[in-house]
Amino acid sequence: MFSPSDRLEAVKLMNDFSLMIHGGAGALLPPSRYEESLRGVVESGARLLEDGGSALDAVSRCVSLLEDDPLYNAGRGSALNTMGQVFCDASIMDGRNMAAGAVAGVRGVKNPVLLARAIMENTPHVFLIGPAAENFARARGLNFESPEYFVTDERAAELAEMQGRQSDLLSRLNPQGGVMGTVGAVARDKFGNLAAATSTGGLANQLEGRVGDSPLIGAGVIADNASCAVSCTGVGEHFIKTSLARMAAFNVEFRDMRAEEAAREALRYLVDKVRGVGGLILIDRHGGCAQAHSTPGMLTAKAENGAIIVRTKAGT
Ligand code: ASP
Repeated sequence: MFSPSDRLEAVKLMNDFSLMIHGGAGALLPPSRYEESLRGVVESGARLLEDGGSALDAVSRCVSLLEDDPLYNAGRGSALNTMGQVFCDASIMDGRNMAAGAVAGVRGVKNPVLLARAIMENTPHVFLIGPAAENFARARGLNFESPEYFVTDERAAELAEMQGRQSDLLSRLNPQGGVMGTVGAVARDKFGNLAAATSTGGLANQLEGRVGDSPLIGAGVIADNASCAVSCTGVGEHFIKTSLARMAAFNVEFRDMRAEEAAREALRYLVDKVRGVGGLILIDRHGGCAQAHSTPGMLTAKAENGAIIVRTKAGT
């Protein structure tokens, strides 16, 4: 039998929602530049959830907005590869049924996360790559932009600087060396459904054809109502080798951990196994939010229990 206060608590929980976004585990510009942008995006997603929108729509909206903002390494403002070109990767997952969509190595698609969602919703597949994925985006009527749209002065200067000091790929794996600005979002809506999405331009000065963790389900993203929603950022090779998003979900589902502990333990695994560089955001099946990172800082914002919190300072 429920007491009246139990019933009140149950109603409150049903009406709660949680949302968390990240702008990567490293910043090209001073952290203060990101504050307003992160706040605007999380507020927009929170409004959608407040109005009864789905977790899937919330993560699609937040990641699209972050892709449109040249401050981040996703969509416009993506990192440049060795040839000075932008290739984008993205993924999305629906915790209700573990439906997933992913795309890698696409050029010109304005919002790669929307392409990932279109693949999830309109094909029997999970993952499309390269020109064929671009053709699919055209057929679905998604927006395209010219190559110049994606390239910012900051990213061009970053590449010139790296190539000037002949920074090789290995130096990108140095914990102090990386500038990562991949974006992601995780959400739990008022109906208890989870969703996650991640989008990136990869690592600056990466080889042509290189794909990181961001579009890989179980590495850079995961969502399952039975456990949690996770989005990762960092040196993708580390997250692929450790199946890091799946590891965090395992901690919730089978080791019965809450958000904080699950994220912390997943990060510990990443560091212990491969001295991994990066971080993750996580919302568990109860709506608890957490972040963990092995980098000096991580750009995040969250809406939890009716409050918005933005974190842009190193060490938080
Ligand atoms: N994880 C991304 C990748 O390796 C990079 C990042 O997080 O900035 O492609």
